[in-house]
Amino acid sequence: MNIDAARQPYQYVRPVLHEPDWRRLPGWREVTKAQWHDPQWQRAHCVKSPKQLRAVVGDLLTEHFFDELAADLSGFATMSMLIPPQMLNTMAPLTFLDADGFTEGFLADPVRRYMLPVRSDRDPHWPSHPHSARDSLHEAQMWVVEGLTHRYPTKVLAELVTTCPQYCGHCTRMDLVGNSTAQVTKAKLVLKPSSRQELMLDYLKRTPGVRDVVVSGGDVANVPWPRLEAFLRQLLELDSVRDIRLATKALVGLPQHWLQPDILDGLAAVAKLATARGVNLAVHTHANHARSVTPLVAQAARALLGAGVRDVRNQGVLMQGVNATQAELLDLCFALHSEAGILPYYFYMCDMIPNAEHWRLSVAQAQQLQDSLMGYLPGYATPRLVCDVPYLGKRWVHQVTEYDRERGISYWTADRHTYYDPISTLPESGRRWWSDYASR
Ligand code: SF4
Repeated sequence: MNIDAARQPYQYVRPVLHEPDWRRLPGWREVTKAQWHDPQWQRAHCVKSPKQLRAVVGDLLTEHFFDELAADLSGFATMSMLIPPQMLNTMAPLTFLDADGFTEGFLADPVRRYMLPVRSDRDPHWPSHPHSARDSLHEAQMWVVEGLTHRYPTKVLAELVTTCPQYCGHCTRMDLVGNSTAQVTKAKLVLKPSSRQELMLDYLKRTPGVRDVVVSGGDVANVPWPRLEAFLRQLLELDSVRDIRLATKALVGLPQHWLQPDILDGLAAVAKLATARGVNLAVHTHANHARSVTPLVAQAARALLGAGVRDVRNQGVLMQGVNATQAELLDLCFALHSEAGILPYYFYMCDMIPNAEHWRLSVAQAQQLQDSLMGYLPGYATPRLVCDVPYLGKRWVHQVTEYDRERGISYWTADRHTYYDPISTLPESGRRWWSDYASR
């Protein structure tokens, strides 16, 4: 029987990657191509405040937008503003440049929705779930030395820095990463970076059962390359380490960083060593919408593969208004996989941090989305949708063992590790139950 493609719910059309012209924005009219491609220029011109945003967009955004932004920064934001020009430029790329049209397009923009949240985005009744928490995955409780989380039997997460070139509104490490906000005073690492790295390596030497090291942060693009290279070379000296994964959203937010010749040369040398030792060296990035996969992002991903890393993989986060439909997810996956050489690997359910309810999906929604993705991409490139269950770890969304749909409580093991659906997705009786619970 032939498949009638026209009757499928999703129509595949080969994506055309697009880098919007930054000169459409008043503050960047005179910015040259050489400046745009310079990572130092990008870092120096990140937007960190409403004032700096105004300097870029002029009067394209209305006063009401800025009021909403200010209200969010003072009342809800768990991450401070930090948006590289590369990322800001992908927001509202096609809207007409008059104030109302631009503001409308900007408000609806999926990248804006998670990088630059405003008050009206948040859930008006339940901005936070009663069980939300800072460090909702309890990573710091599982530190075996400062910044080294040993949660799974064979894997560790090494947090080398607490900064990134960009700050995402939904960051799961909002407890530690970035600058303090009006709402959140951030935790701090206290050891010197060199001492912390030494202690991490020492733990790994003493613990040969760990074979897989995720080198993260923050974002490894904020670790000075010589320090990162030295750490990777020391990891490669350990016979027990067989997988090394470098976590960097900068591949999407600041691809200019990974296109620097000295960094690519250094990475090529490390990749060669990894290959010689039979170690899988990969890069993990974090794109949430097809708009972020621009030609420059694809060029940077291909450059990493050209330098010899075994894979570049994407770990996105499922969010309402960003990528919570079949079409949005498949558009992103096809842009990543066929056009940029990035493997669509995981989409995480958004973790239960404070003020994240408007982004989160229920487990039932995630299960439906997982089903809707099957059969379009090659099997090896079909992403798994996963829930990071507190104290337990990643579980595929169909692995739930028991599910109370009325109260939105999913149980993932016999000893009842739980995850909670957003209250706004529950039936009236479930919403009433949570109101009573909260008032008790
Ligand atoms: S890049 Fe990753 S660690 Fe940094 S703010 Fe975004 S989600 Fe958090």
